[in-house]
Amino acid sequence: MSSQTSTSVLILAGRLADGLGGASRADQAVLVEAGRIRAVGSREAMRRQVAPEVEVVDLGAACLAPGLIDSHTHLSLAGDGRPYTEMFAETDEMMVLTGALNLRRHLAAGITTIREHGARNRVGFTLKEGLARGYIPGPRMQVSGRPITCTGGHFHMCNEIADGEEEIRRSVRRLVHEGADYIKIMASGGGTAGTIPGRASYETAELRAAVHEARAFGRLTAAHCRARESMLRAVEAGIDLMEHAEFLDPDDQLRFDPKIAEMMAASGIWISPTLQAWTRYPRIVELRTRRDAEILSPDESTELETLEARAELRLDVMRRMLDYGVRDRVVPGTDSGVASLAFGHLDYDLQLLVRAGFTPGEALVSATRLSAEAIGMGSEIGTVAPGKAADLVAFDGDPTVDVGAFSRVVAVFQAGQRVR
Ligand SMILES: [Zn+2]
Repeated sequence: MSSQTSTSVLILAGRLADGLGGASRADQAVLVEAGRIRAVGSREAMRRQVAPEVEVVDLGAACLAPGLIDSHTHLSLAGDGRPYTEMFAETDEMMVLTGALNLRRHLAAGITTIREHGARNRVGFTLKEGLARGYIPGPRMQVSGRPITCTGGHFHMCNEIADGEEEIRRSVRRLVHEGADYIKIMASGGGTAGTIPGRASYETAELRAAVHEARAFGRLTAAHCRARESMLRAVEAGIDLMEHAEFLDPDDQLRFDPKIAEMMAASGIWISPTLQAWTRYPRIVELRTRRDAEILSPDESTELETLEARAELRLDVMRRMLDYGVRDRVVPGTDSGVASLAFGHLDYDLQLLVRAGFTPGEALVSATRLSAEAIGMGSEIGTVAPGKAADLVAFDGDPTVDVGAFSRVVAVFQAGQRVR
């Protein structure tokens, strides 16, 4: 290894979980050159191989892993509990500043790649350009620009309204022209006032038009599907990644549908169940913390019980979905920005995946290697392997056996540069 330059760094770690799925290994080292992983091996062997002048970063007992990937964020929204009407009353300029803060929070939590899943006007594109210019720190970012939605549909405030196949094709072309890395389409209602989460908002033919046009430009598609009916149509249309997948009916009840689950499994569609969003998990965590400190009021105690019971309904649907052998098609997504979902907490979704039946090691693979594949970046990120970008996170504890470790980030590297 004679070509080592001043851009090389040897990272030593007590353990390494490489994202490929096996057990973590003790006393490992990762050699990074010019932002990419050059070699991975035992601490001793690597120390013997590398030139003495190469910089060494010793992470002690920490466990090194691939940087985490969040396939579902809304950077322009603060996640501070305000309703959409108030959040969208902000100017585009304030939304960009909100995004800059959110990017920093996610990066500090070990999330080194995100999808920006829909913002108003040019806010998403501007944030990506700001990152590219180095004006603001943040994870790598794929941008959808604006989500395509029907007249009056979920997130219509973002200003990419399209009805019918022709308008949808035009929207895809416009977004790609403006810089969209992938296409996000709202296949059902959602939290936006005046929409019905349990109702599909596009016909299969309309979704198919989006998929067809996106593929013509080499772009992947992601569809917001809360309604059971929208899930069926998304599979029929060939959507690449299904968001939420709640099996929701128009009466707002979750009704698991084995036939749709079977179709999803057979199609190989990626599934992002956004568990912390539906379960209002940040509030559950807050109330649990108060309970543990013995300062929970009787009202709060009732609220916690209600939320926990409600969460179980959603987790039960998830468990039944997993019975169809889709475990290696599930990726975590936070939906950060929306409602009270503050940035910096992919760990919450990983905790919930474990509650739904994943092992901690499977949760790690889901948030790294599988997420990278789901967003079309599998050759670039997602595992600690030679040739990959050196996006890495180190935890206090081994995340392949202890899901709590995901909440204890001690170091973050982006293309080999330590950013935390
Ligand atoms: Zn969302």
